[in-house]
Amino acid sequence: VRILAIETSCDETSVAIVEDGRRMLANVVSSQVDIHEKYGGVVPEIASRKHVETITVMLEEALQQADTSLDEISAVAVTQGPGLVGSLLVGVVAAKTLALALDVPLIGTHHIAGHIYANELVQPLEYPLVALVVSGGHTELIHMPARGEFRIIGQTRDDAVGEAYDKVARALGLPYPGGPHIDRLAQMTDDPLELPRAWLEQDSYDFSFSGLKSAVLNVLNQTKMRGEVIPPARVARGFQESVCDVLAEKAMRAVQEFGARQLVLAGGVAANRGLRTVLAERCAQAGMQLVVPPIELCTDNAAMIGAAAYLKWERQSFTPLDMKAKPLFTLEEWMNE
Ligand code: ATP
Ligand code: MG
Ligand code: FE
Repeated sequence: VRILAIETSCDETSVAIVEDGRRMLANVVSSQVDIHEKYGGVVPEIASRKHVETITVMLEEALQQADTSLDEISAVAVTQGPGLVGSLLVGVVAAKTLALALDVPLIGTHHIAGHIYANELVQPLEYPLVALVVSGGHTELIHMPARGEFRIIGQTRDDAVGEAYDKVARALGLPYPGGPHIDRLAQMTDDPLELPRAWLEQDSYDFSFSGLKSAVLNVLNQTKMRGEVIPPARVARGFQESVCDVLAEKAMRAVQEFGARQLVLAGGVAANRGLRTVLAERCAQAGMQLVVPPIELCTDNAAMIGAAAYLKWERQSFTPLDMKAKPLFTLEEWMNE
């Protein structure tokens, strides 16, 4: 079964061809970072226009890379949500058109399920598992008792991790998106700035990062007023350690509580070296299997959508051609539709 998958939920235009939810035959991604960089963030109107310009080129490249013709495609999958509505619409319209023209089923797919199932392109997931989803818009701990069953046990009450990274980076004068820059700076010192950790209530799996972000901004303002300078690497290191400590501690508590066989990392911030290192250490100590996506499958791509869409193919559960893009879309809603 060859699924052609399309992802346009934010600022990456991507088309992939995935066989049986596992084998990536092609995965072409066109990122718009260089365009949005000068605005310090994604400009939705520009993002959707850019998707329109790029989508057909990506489609042709993916088919070529996979050495596949359109008549070998069994279904068309597309990110239905969550994401920016104007961006989502471009992928949705392209996918509907293709599904109609090729007379194959359409599979509306959940973006976060995609981030999680990106891991299946490398190794099979084993249940029960706990997934730690850390991306630009989401920070969630998800208990998955079985394949395709998602139970959110904790989430951020304010900023997503990626968002906090990008805001702190901006305060340090680093380019957008700042996550990778903070990560790089953090490796350059062993002397972290002392910063608070938001543990919340003792038994809570929720997160909060806005207090930490404010603490960083306060320190930066105060030192500036005193005419002092803190090395940015110390700020980056302190911020990264605070974030990774809390993420790792709560994830490890969850794998214990739910008797997980794997801890699965997912989302753009899964590329973070600090986080990967801490989780590897903690999982090794606990005898827990850690599954991390390869770096290129951490941030948005269509291959992950092709992998998640296979859950629906297995159930022969397809999406009507009159479906709508869903900027707000929960995992439960997706699995129950
Ligand atoms: P969502 O998936 O929640 O809809 P999104 O698709 O915009 O949001 P992703 O593409 O999954 O987000 O991830 C992008 C985020 O990942 C950005 O905030 C970026 O700064 C962050 N990021 C990427 N690499 C790293 C890294 N090495 N360290 C920290 N953050 C990183
Ligand atoms: Mg992006
Ligand atoms: Fe994403």
